[in-house]
Amino acid sequence: MTDKIKFEHLGLSKRVLDAIYKKGFEEPSRIQALTIPVMLRDDTNIMAQAQTGTGKTAAFGLPLIEMINSSERSVQALIITPTRELAIQVSEEISSLKGNSGIQVIPIYGGQSIDQQLRRLKKGVHIVVGTPGRVIDHINRKTLNLKDIEYLILDEADEMLNMGFIEDMEEIMKHTNPQKRTLLFSATMPSRIKVLASKYMADYEFITVEKQQLTTSLTEQIYYEVEAADKFEALCRIIDIEENFYGLVFCRTKNDVDSVVGHLIDRGYDADAIHGDISQRQREEALDKFKKKKINVLVATDVAARGIDVNNLTHVINYSLPHDPESYVNRIGRTGRAGKQGTAITFITPSEYNKLMFIQRIAKTDIKKSKVPNVKDIIKAKEKKINEDITAINSEEIDDTYYNWAKKLLNNNNSTQILAKLLNYCFDDELNPGLYNEIKDLSGKNRKIEMEGRTRLFVALGKKDKISPSKLVKFIFQNTGVRNSAIDQVEVYNDFSFITVPFKEAEIILGIFQKKSGNRKSLVVKARKKVN
Ligand code: ADP
Ligand code: MG
Repeated sequence: MTDKIKFEHLGLSKRVLDAIYKKGFEEPSRIQALTIPVMLRDDTNIMAQAQTGTGKTAAFGLPLIEMINSSERSVQALIITPTRELAIQVSEEISSLKGNSGIQVIPIYGGQSIDQQLRRLKKGVHIVVGTPGRVIDHINRKTLNLKDIEYLILDEADEMLNMGFIEDMEEIMKHTNPQKRTLLFSATMPSRIKVLASKYMADYEFITVEKQQLTTSLTEQIYYEVEAADKFEALCRIIDIEENFYGLVFCRTKNDVDSVVGHLIDRGYDADAIHGDISQRQREEALDKFKKKKINVLVATDVAARGIDVNNLTHVINYSLPHDPESYVNRIGRTGRAGKQGTAITFITPSEYNKLMFIQRIAKTDIKKSKVPNVKDIIKAKEKKINEDITAINSEEIDDTYYNWAKKLLNNNNSTQILAKLLNYCFDDELNPGLYNEIKDLSGKNRKIEMEGRTRLFVALGKKDKISPSKLVKFIFQNTGVRNSAIDQVEVYNDFSFITVPFKEAEIILGIFQKKSGNRKSLVVKARKKVN
């Protein structure tokens, strides 16, 4: 576990600390706690690695804000990012943390009018965040002078490599102050990055934050296949069947968040929303209510929920499927913390099955199919809860007035009947099955979809290995447990074979052979040929 390092411990000034708290950051992330002091104290170059979403921008942004001299008009730091979105995002993140330091930050990227950028550059800016192409443009036009920069930062360096920006980088390097400090930030550390680092930086300090366990084993992961129109009903049922539901619900868009929260409130739930269009103050309020358990459902977009830290959630609901495996892991990593079991539930529509399987494979996790709770079971659960509540209040003192009142009623009536009437009077609304809408059962359809979505696999075994179709099927079964009935279109050639299997079985087979092969070439791979 992380020790409780605070922003105050990192060597930042009061002014910057104020800006940090105003922004709503409470504690530094690991990478921030490790990087900020080194950047502030030493003159070294740095190569830093930490998973996406761990706050690398502020890890270098905060020391920059601290160290840049705003009374000078020169560009003192250049940050290179692989895409324009990132350039904008990084520039905004730094701006939002600069407080009243007077530091000017601008993003420059292709697609935006170069004249506008020129005007701003002329006025004097201290930090430029740019994409490689546009930075080179400005260098060539002599509108960006990098002779005096003190910091060169390559953000998302692994992406930069993937996108083939090496030559551009070298071109930019040539124009920079040789005395500058170079800092390289990356989510992953492939060996190519290390080669790059030694090339650009004579000496550097390597800071790394171990990748968090991808998923915690304490999180039970299940998915429901429902039609889009039934998602809301499914959500209500999950909340209702749980004795003490306390969960985060993730939607993909702000509109979805608003609509889900609106409907929840209409149906009497204590819910609130956080997303990017909601003011910082309102977001903080919602989060505060949630943390204090005044509400038990918080609906959020990924971005708004990033960085928030709530403990003891019973559920994370993926109302819509996350964009990528990483966000899936980030979302569900919020349950099952601190040794407590949590449940992550993902809703998918039938067409999203393949995407879920992809997420499952990349995140190396197991997401089990399950059924939306049925109304009967929910009502049973509610009755159980009522019984427990009654038992609990039964042990409390009761005021004489009520006691005598009850006595009178029991004397004049059949006791069972009067209690039944009373229960009915109190809980009829809550226990009424008519409260629930029908959910379309997709289980029949599923099988068809799973069978429809099939893939062709290439097996590096053939007649030369004494393989026949039946031996191949047996071999697959013995190694993976995938049965004959799931395999068809078996074709055995001299050097290799093909089989066709449903996606699900393909994932199993590929997973097992990948593991078996270690770093060697896997015996089974996806065939390039499509299945019709
Ligand atoms: P990375 O570059 O590592 O992928 P970012 O710098 O983009 O991550 O930060 C991800 C999100 O986390 C941003 O929304 C950022 O504002 C937020 N964030 C960063 N540091 C903190 C912190 N210490 N506390 C809370 N949120 C933070
Ligand atoms: Mg980043």
